Amino acid sequence: MRLHSPQNWSFHQQLRTIIFVASFAIISCVLFGAWRLQQFSSSQMEIQQSSISLQQNLHLNFEKTQIVNEIRTQLRLYLQSGREDSLHLIHQGCDNLRRKISTDDQKVLGQFLVVIDELEARMQTVDEHTKKVFGYEKSLVHTTGQLMNISSKDEISTIRSLVIGTCLEHHQLYVAAILAQQVEVLTRIQQDAMNIFDALDVKLNDLGKEFTPDQQVFVEKLISINFSLKETVQTLLASRIINLEKQNDIVSVLEKMSADIAQDSLNKNNDASVLIDTSLTVSRYNLLILSAGLVGSAIMFFIIAFFLNQRMIVPLGKFIELLRRITRILAGLRGQQVAEDEDILQLEQMAKTRTDEIGSAADAVRMLVSRLRELSLFRQTIEADERTEDIYARLAQIFEHKLGLERFVILEQSEKDLASMAPVYCSPPELAPELPEFAVAGHCRAKRTGLVITSFETPFICKEYPFADLMDHVCIPMIVGGHVIGVVQFLFPLFMPKNKQLEKNMAIEEARYYIAEALPVLQTRHLTKKLEDMATKDPLTGLYNRRYLDSVIEQMIAGVVRRKSTIGILMCDIDHFKRVNDLFGHETGDFVLIQLARICQDCVRDADLVIRFGGEEFLILLPDCDESCAAVLAERIRITVEAHKVHTPSRTLQQTISIGVAEFSHATSKTIWEIIKLADIALYQAKNNGRNQILVCQDNTVSTENGNGDA
Ligand code: GH3
Ligand code: MG
Ligand code: MG
Repeated sequence: MRLHSPQNWSFHQQLRTIIFVASFAIISCVLFGAWRLQQFSSSQMEIQQSSISLQQNLHLNFEKTQIVNEIRTQLRLYLQSGREDSLHLIHQGCDNLRRKISTDDQKVLGQFLVVIDELEARMQTVDEHTKKVFGYEKSLVHTTGQLMNISSKDEISTIRSLVIGTCLEHHQLYVAAILAQQVEVLTRIQQDAMNIFDALDVKLNDLGKEFTPDQQVFVEKLISINFSLKETVQTLLASRIINLEKQNDIVSVLEKMSADIAQDSLNKNNDASVLIDTSLTVSRYNLLILSAGLVGSAIMFFIIAFFLNQRMIVPLGKFIELLRRITRILAGLRGQQVAEDEDILQLEQMAKTRTDEIGSAADAVRMLVSRLRELSLFRQTIEADERTEDIYARLAQIFEHKLGLERFVILEQSEKDLASMAPVYCSPPELAPELPEFAVAGHCRAKRTGLVITSFETPFICKEYPFADLMDHVCIPMIVGGHVIGVVQFLFPLFMPKNKQLEKNMAIEEARYYIAEALPVLQTRHLTKKLEDMATKDPLTGLYNRRYLDSVIEQMIAGVVRRKSTIGILMCDIDHFKRVNDLFGHETGDFVLIQLARICQDCVRDADLVIRFGGEEFLILLPDCDESCAAVLAERIRITVEAHKVHTPSRTLQQTISIGVAEFSHATSKTIWEIIKLADIALYQAKNNGRNQILVCQDNTVSTENGNGDA
């Protein structure tokens, strides 16, 4: 539910979204650009091809137009002159044209050639008839000459004007007919020619009536020639008219052909123009899109840069600054206030409001700082604890109430016997009777190896563990300066569910931090005790020394005075101890000394104080014990020593001890040192009395209570 708005997204999600959007945009741009480029290049290709084909087409059309124009020119020449070379050139032009035109146009050209063939045939007719006309005209002139030969002058003049004039008119019309290019003109010429022939015919008929029979023969001949001429001219002009009509058809076909060629060029040109226009539009559009893409990319870049700066870099900078401050405080104020409240509040605020990685980091740092704070407080508290038992109790409290670890045992290496280990704290206390005593600490796997031993990983790993069938265990060694000084054993029910196991792992992890925090303090306490022992205890026998007596005596007297009680004082000295040294060596002497010191210690209560007062002299202070009680105790010591056999590697010895007894009463005016002196005097007397006896000093006098009365 926290992921509703992008503001709540983590850096990872935000970056993933940016990368997704940017990739999508880039891929779209690339695909779109490729598509546009492909379109652009294909349109360029089309333009190129169209340009080439346009060029070829224009060239072809130019050639075709030239050929058509040449055909037209040659046709006109042919029709005017009937020259064979013109006809040859027309055929040649048609052959050229056929190779360059379409199939449809080739059909038209075929029709054109048919017409040309027809024209050619008619031109021959025209030629023949023209020749005939010339022949008839010639015979007309010749016959006219014959007629004139037999005619009078007036008749000759009439005949000349009539026939020659007609002939001249014929020639004029003939020339006009050759030049005429329009059918109407030629038709009119034809009509005029017929009229001339008809008029000549009428005039010749009229003239024949006036002439002699000889002359009439020639006139008749002239009439016949005129008629033949008329017929021939009519046929000739009719052919000319048809030719002209065909010529016009041919010309119109040729013109149409030229117009088609021109139109084709125009169309091709228009197509090319449209193609170029389209390509230009595409290019313009591409340019527009490219510009828009560039502007879009720039905007996107700025948005991403702004976003990165606002959402990541600036908060990261603030967070780093805060971390620096906290680190400085952590480094500088170890053991004091761990971090300033204001900074902790800022961290909490950051962890609450931000759901991205900075928020997670802030939360982690907040947890770290608060854990350090708790650890530091714990450390401060245990540093103020005097006894190791108090430290263990406080550690147990953390395990039980803070970490929810209900069952555990704290085992500690024995001070007196480093090889053994015993429980010093047990939760619940009912477990204690079931726990094993490690007489040899090496039997404990965690102690021996210095490793965390857990039955979760390897079931039945520890042979000494007594609850293997009931509970799992995790044993954490307490290591100081490379030595295992103890072991914390946590106990858990068998077959824990997964979530409980996770909780357990976290609690164990936390417990290890607290143990690690307690270890230096525990070590300090152990070292302090060791130092105190070194200063107050005799290293050979383990008994307190005179310095210790000096430090505690005032306190003991104060208690006795307060209780209105007494202190029994025994001054003990081993008999003939020098001889032991002399006979069996100093080492054996030491051995005897240790054993007899232990007897003294064992014979008294815990509250009593046994002090090695001199070489082989022990002073025993018995608070709340009067003279008679002290005498009983002294006697018990004497008897025990006397009965005790000291086994050395080479022999067995038996020693005796002499004891002087005195009493320090709360009511006495003497100092404790004076009473001790009295006890010493009593001891001296006991020695003098024969040793192996006790002597009680009463009211500044000394009485003997010897065992054997040995002198
Ligand atoms: P007695 O007290 O019965 O009169 O005879 P004694 O031989 O015990 O008398 P003395 O006081 O002359 O001798 C005490 C001897 O104890 C002298 C010394 O060699 C020895 N001694 C003192 N301190 C030690 C010690 O720490 N170790 C050993 N081995 N001998 C010690
Ligand atoms: Mg002695
Ligand atoms: Mg002595």
